[in-house]
Amino acid sequence: MKRIAIDMDEVIADFNTKHLRLFNEQYNEQLTVHDLQGTRLRLLRPHLKNEIIGYLKDPSFFRDLDVMANSQEVIKQLSEQYEIYITTAAMEYPTSFAAKYEWLKEHFSFLSDMNFVFCGDKSIIRADYLIDDNVRHFEHFAGQGILFHAPHNVNEHAEIRVHNWLEIRDYFLR
Ligand SMILES: [Mg+2]
Repeated sequence: MKRIAIDMDEVIADFNTKHLRLFNEQYNEQLTVHDLQGTRLRLLRPHLKNEIIGYLKDPSFFRDLDVMANSQEVIKQLSEQYEIYITTAAMEYPTSFAAKYEWLKEHFSFLSDMNFVFCGDKSIIRADYLIDDNVRHFEHFAGQGILFHAPHNVNEHAEIRVHNWLEIRDYFLR
């Protein structure tokens, strides 16, 4: 079986919606994902960088993120023909481990715990495909990188870019 590694934030977990909501509530702003095209919240409001990153250090931040549309159904389908690993650079926010694990158990219970990979540098990952919203993870990846469309990566070049989980299904199961 070929192996597919799949990122969490902005690929199966809707990171932006909650992050923007917390920020907007606290600073009385109306920012949307359209304001994040080609950039990041911390670059858009550099004077609040520490506060913006601070939300992510809250151990519960990652626990109740929404699931990206169709990701559960498509990954379930893919898991019949491919080995699926969830690969998240969780070391970026070490306080997130428990919440991320519980979130995966709740929403992707059909995957084995042994297929959850909490790592730092993703160049250690060996898989045939990596689905990720950050192009930097493809630099040292030996397999095929598949860029998952996200506001921050609209201007990045990618050999393969997908916009949603239905496109991923078409790519692998056609
Ligand atoms: Mg990500």
